[in-house]
Amino acid sequence: MRDVIVIGAGGGGPVVAKELAARGLDLLLLEAGPRHADPEREWTHFENEAVGRFRWGPADRTRPAWLREVPYNALLMQLSGVGGSTQHYLANSPRAMPGVFAGYSRPDAAAYDVAHRFPFPYEQLVPYYEWVEHTLPVQTAPMGTKEPLFFRGAERLGLPLNTTKDITRDSFRPQENAILQPGGNAGHTTDAAQLLWPQATGCTGCGCCWYGCYEPRKAPANLKAKRSTDNSYVPMALIAAGWQPGGRNATLITDAFVTNIGTEERSGDTVARRVTWRIGATGEHVTEDAKVVVLAGGCTESPRLWLNSGLPNPNDWVGRGLTDHFPDILIGEFDEETAPFKGPSSAARADFPGRGFLMNIGFPPALAALGTNLSDGGMAGFYDNGRPDASGANASGRLIGNRFADFMARYRHLYGVIILTDDDVEANNRVTLSRSVPADEHGPVPKVFLGHRHPSARTVANREFLTRKTVELLRAAGARTVHRLNLPPFVLHLHSTMRMGLDAADSVCDPNGAARAVRRLYIADNSVLANSLGGPNPTLTTQALATRTAEKIFALEFGGQPWVSREPPVSSIDPIVTRAVVEREPAWRAHG
Ligand SMILES: Cc1cc2nc3c(=O)[nH]c(=O)nc-3n(C[C@H](O)[C@H](O)[C@H](O)COP(=O)(O)OP(=O)(O)OC[C@H]3O[C@@H](n4cnc5c(N)ncnc54)[C@H](O)[C@@H]3O)c2cc1C
Repeated sequence: MRDVIVIGAGGGGPVVAKELAARGLDLLLLEAGPRHADPEREWTHFENEAVGRFRWGPADRTRPAWLREVPYNALLMQLSGVGGSTQHYLANSPRAMPGVFAGYSRPDAAAYDVAHRFPFPYEQLVPYYEWVEHTLPVQTAPMGTKEPLFFRGAERLGLPLNTTKDITRDSFRPQENAILQPGGNAGHTTDAAQLLWPQATGCTGCGCCWYGCYEPRKAPANLKAKRSTDNSYVPMALIAAGWQPGGRNATLITDAFVTNIGTEERSGDTVARRVTWRIGATGEHVTEDAKVVVLAGGCTESPRLWLNSGLPNPNDWVGRGLTDHFPDILIGEFDEETAPFKGPSSAARADFPGRGFLMNIGFPPALAALGTNLSDGGMAGFYDNGRPDASGANASGRLIGNRFADFMARYRHLYGVIILTDDDVEANNRVTLSRSVPADEHGPVPKVFLGHRHPSARTVANREFLTRKTVELLRAAGARTVHRLNLPPFVLHLHSTMRMGLDAADSVCDPNGAARAVRRLYIADNSVLANSLGGPNPTLTTQALATRTAEKIFALEFGGQPWVSREPPVSSIDPIVTRAVVEREPAWRAHG
């Protein structure tokens, strides 16, 4: 019997695996998708190929992607494979807004989703933020041509610079992100031959964060620039004995789609006991017992697995409360070159507590062309799909024909800003099981209610406020024209479908991240977030929470001592970790 089985090697799962393997527990990490053992050879910066490689689908690429029912015009971006959706992520790592936590009492307290706060105060999470920020590590983002332009606009709007990590007032700042600062030749040349590790370290400025990070080439896995979990927490979990005294290496099995969490009844309690997964290559099913099960399949698959396993759902909140930051994108066109294709994809932000935030967004050309055509607002200049625009932008909706061609011809002068809204937890925005799409080899497939979601009046007002601010900011920075995409559901950030909460009536997990209805079952992905964090990008908070949950598991289920406030964290780029990675890497490459 394993001590702990973690389901899902994305943003959250590997954090629990690393922390508990470092404490000497016998850890099994199961991942439905592939392990890209050698991204340098397997991945590419050619956009068409790169986008095709990253998908929600099986390791065997001759087989189709896994189905989900996503009614209406919507894009749901989640990935399978080691690293999960962090393979795609831009690594922006802000903390949540303090106003979304219990006990917040500043004058603006009522501006947030007061009915669905985190069930403990912000200050309690700070040591866990610091631990993760050191481990990844999180640093101030390197700046390129596009960032000063954003700062210019923000300053002209009268926003102050925020020099702290806490978001408590309207302000702007460089992003804190989980991308290593450039060193050596990095940042000084575009000559690929000079951008090899160790002559180059950290971010080489390739502008391809979206497509998985394998820069600088020749670097060991833990020294790749972007700190997606495949470059940080997963290597650390697999070599825990190599860097932590008393650590024990976790076992990772990929191509292992978990189809059932088995339980037993003990003294009137339902207790998680075993996990069954299907091996993609053979179709065989394997079952193992565990003392504790951690569910970290992400916001769509965690509720799906719960429902397919027939686990109790007494208050019917499994899958409910989906928040997605109700995003939109605006693009300014400038006389000057904006270089949208260089450097970390996003390195500047402006926060509006109680409303959400805006951040600049760089995009390689094919993504720019695709993005410009993602709209719910009809065709610019022809019809508006009932989504008229009051943001003050010059145009809204899809660009077509010559207008689109002119726009793309000015690609080097375009400047994207994405807005991410503080959106309310709503019971009817949810993941459930599809009744119209047939079950696949893993059981009934999930249906994600995006197209006909029900944003609250506050959510809609926040989105409109942020789009107006973005138009003002871009104009203040010097934009000639501003175009609003008026996006359909464009889902990069999903949260809160298995939310933790103070009230047992509208939450699935208790304040420890433990499922209320099934003992010895914990949740450690974005789905356990109590709300949408006020707008900030979610992964750092999920990882801080997963660290806290690992401590709770160790203390409550194994009688261990907490460590975060008692020991210094070890960084994933510490030389001791690098040595252990270099020793183990040949074996990873051999086994895939
Ligand atoms: C383009 C893009 C940009 C982003 N940029 C940022 C950013 O800058 N900052 C930020 O904070 N966030 C960003 N995000 C969001 C970030 O990727 C997510 O917050 C994070 O990955 C969520 O972690 P998770 O563990 O909830 O889910 P995931 O990372 O999706 O991981 C879930 C994992 O579980 C596996 N799995 C699912 N079901 C099963 C099963 N039944 N059995 C076995 N395995 C299973 C999946 O294959 C997957 O690997 C971005 C996302 C996208 C798409």
